[in-house]
Amino acid sequence: MDLYEHQARELLRENGVLVPRAEVVDSAGAARAAAERLGGRVVIKAQVKTGGRGKAGGVKLAEDPAAAELTARRILGMDIKGHTVHRVMVAEPAEVVREMYLGFTLDRAAGRFLAIASAEGGMEIEEVAARRPEAVARIAVDPAEGVTEAKAAEIAVAGGLPRETTGTIRRLWTVLTAHDALLVEVNPLVVTRDGAIVALDGKVTLDDNARFRQPSWDDDADDRARDPLEARAAAAGLGYVKLDGQVGVIGNGAGLVMSTLDVVAGRGARPADFLDIGGGASAQVMADGLSLVLDDPDVRSVLVNVFGGITACDAVADGIVRALDTVTLTKPLVVRLDGNNAARGRAILGQLAHPLVHQADTMDGAAARAAELAASAASDTSAA
Ligand code: GDP
Ligand code: MN
Repeated sequence: MDLYEHQARELLRENGVLVPRAEVVDSAGAARAAAERLGGRVVIKAQVKTGGRGKAGGVKLAEDPAAAELTARRILGMDIKGHTVHRVMVAEPAEVVREMYLGFTLDRAAGRFLAIASAEGGMEIEEVAARRPEAVARIAVDPAEGVTEAKAAEIAVAGGLPRETTGTIRRLWTVLTAHDALLVEVNPLVVTRDGAIVALDGKVTLDDNARFRQPSWDDDADDRARDPLEARAAAAGLGYVKLDGQVGVIGNGAGLVMSTLDVVAGRGARPADFLDIGGGASAQVMADGLSLVLDDPDVRSVLVNVFGGITACDAVADGIVRALDTVTLTKPLVVRLDGNNAARGRAILGQLAHPLVHQADTMDGAAARAAELAASAASDTSAA
């Protein structure tokens, strides 16, 4: 899970990294009030989970509270790389003498963390890294040893950062380890006119696998940044990803669902989603999943592809029947059941005798049918 800048800033601040005073607001009027509290002259920063906000016009200096209001009005609602700006951070401006780059990230291949440091931070860091990779130091960090004072000094020297940054380097490492982060990045880390080392922008990516021991993360999740169907799926505990096609895909087991997406694509259609009801899914989970996919306005046909194992096919069929008690089926449903209790599952669906429920014997046959039904639904709509 990526955090917003203001959430990352809070983690940095709690761990002793200097950050500018700031407030987060969701209206232009509130931005003006915040600017008044922060001394008038402020930086207005779009809060979206993507980088390059500066280049996209999402970071602007405002000279006084009235300008802060105008600027916030312009930035709120802005689209930055597909992310709508719902909130802005109003921050006290820093008097920047030097912009540096500092981050820690996981190097999966090496099984270590990597410290990345550069004396040439700021908005052009990607260009610097591409054109002059030697200007960006990459130092392996053994997670068992951590970042000692000596290690911090090594990172600072390699990156060409002033000696005074070692405290900040160690604090960033603490943020990474204490919060189970995969990435902690500060760009720019600056030296201010009075010689302070301040984090002007922060990015933190948390490791979702650590959620079980980080209960506070649920408070960080922001449904506004999510697809509404994905938010609903998360609340129901379903593994769901919205895609941009028309064939709704439901299966059990991530591998089977992935290959179902491929087979649908092989039949010339595009999947509308990835939905894994999981290995031990109950009839209720199947019912929840089906009603979710049917509620997606982009879906023109639904393909249920289940290989019964721990989840037997008759439970899946029961789930479909149960879903149809509460949802009116308006789109064709193609079901392929195989494996544990397949015959019983097929019989349950056969008895249902619903005109929009089709059964197929093979995965490819089911995908072909679902693709065909989605295409004819599309031509029906365009004819209407
Ligand atoms: P990003 O473009 O999404 O990485 O957003 P940043 O928060 O890094 O802001 C973009 C750039 O704006 C930074 O690289 C800084 O150069 C500049 N900037 C942001 N806040 C301040 C500030 O308080 N003072 C000054 N002088 N520059 C700032
Ligand atoms: Mn930045």
